[in-house]
Amino acid sequence: KLPTVAIVGRPNVGKSTLFNRLVGKKLALVDDRPGVTRDRREGDATLIGLEFRVIDTAGFETDDPQTLPGRMRAQTEAAVIQADVALFLIDSRAGVTPLDEEIAQWLRNGDTPVIVLANKAEGRAGESGVIEAFALGFAEPVPFSAEHGEGLADLFDALLPHI
Ligand code: GDP
Ligand code: MG
Repeated sequence: KLPTVAIVGRPNVGKSTLFNRLVGKKLALVDDRPGVTRDRREGDATLIGLEFRVIDTAGFETDDPQTLPGRMRAQTEAAVIQADVALFLIDSRAGVTPLDEEIAQWLRNGDTPVIVLANKAEGRAGESGVIEAFALGFAEPVPFSAEHGEGLADLFDALLPHI
């Protein structure tokens, strides 16, 4: 059985773009509108020869189980709890937002190891966001660009101890 990696983060940080890059097919819907991934998507990923199952999650806005976003959040939480490691994406151009802090707090209370990916950091963009991401309280954030495929070797190095 392949190890499992869950991609988590607030809407629009690039989770589905990363999923598509890792799985290599246009399986996840990428959209500019926040929250477009309505259900969880899974695929087999290969990263520089490392093979794992990857889950693209959606939804962390509310924990009210009576609502669709609440049920999406419950699915996200279940995926993270079952995963061997979580990739926590932030948008390094936007910096750390209150929802990022909320997700970070939930992740810190759990047992799943967390790798922070400071996404949208292609070129020199997002340097301040990468620095902000240090304050989330996990290991050193990995500067990354899901869209441009930058930081893949550093992601490999960060994943290796966990899978
Ligand atoms: P999700 O809501 O977290 O799944 O985010 P998506 O993968 O749907 O991406 C949201 C938007 O961010 C889209 O317009 C993507 O093209 C864009 N995006 C994703 N990754 C990057 C990146 O590395 N750099 C930049 N500049 N934009 C990105
Ligand atoms: Mg998505």
